[in-house]
Amino acid sequence: MIGIYGGTFNPVHYGHLRTALEITQAFQLEQLRMIPCHLPPHRQVPDVSAETRLQMLRLAVADTPGLQLDRRELDRAGPSYMVDTLQSLRAEFPETGLLLIMGADAFAGLSNWHCWQQLPELAHIVVMTRPGFSHPALSEFWQARHCTDKAQLATQAAGYLMFETVSQLEISATYIRQIIAAGGNPQFLLPDAVLAFIKQHQLYQTA
Ligand code: ATP
Repeated sequence: MIGIYGGTFNPVHYGHLRTALEITQAFQLEQLRMIPCHLPPHRQVPDVSAETRLQMLRLAVADTPGLQLDRRELDRAGPSYMVDTLQSLRAEFPETGLLLIMGADAFAGLSNWHCWQQLPELAHIVVMTRPGFSHPALSEFWQARHCTDKAQLATQAAGYLMFETVSQLEISATYIRQIIAAGGNPQFLLPDAVLAFIKQHQLYQTA
């Protein structure tokens, strides 16, 4: 199975990386693809270019087998709709199980995503939840797809919704950008190599 972890990664931090690794291990993924979005459809376009966010991601995953970079959203014009990304992955991997991974915050807003009903036709959806959290009440659409057994999920290439508990690190890219803009040091919230890159390129100096 292949995991798909999308985000703006502005910048990538240990909240992303730790959860990506935990999901990789929990579902015994062959690989997990981290996919920076080019033009996020649901939020302001980041000041830092997609190529630069990708370069930081490359530094972050360099030493972790299983975590891979995928630049397909950068090579596509227009808004980075996940449905298009999944269609292109499905064309590349017709038989493989695909797992679209997202935080509970993203799942809560999923019905605003472009063509969201098509997503489970293309991939399983795995929602990362914090320890002790019980999943939200599900609509009929999701109730019909809800699965609690990884072995069952592995029998199909797409179609199930599953919740998976992961370590919750209270880190956000917003917080890191704020620390840097205020002249502070965000070390230990993100990889040193990414921080060195940020300093070298003087990113996030203004809020
Ligand atoms: P920002 O602060 O700029 O909104 P962010 O830190 O939330 O950014 P994104 O790139 O928007 O990062 O997030 C991509 C994905 O990573 C989303 O599915 C989000 O739920 C998840 N995520 C972000 N931070 C964490 C974290 N600390 N722990 C677990 N998952 C996270």
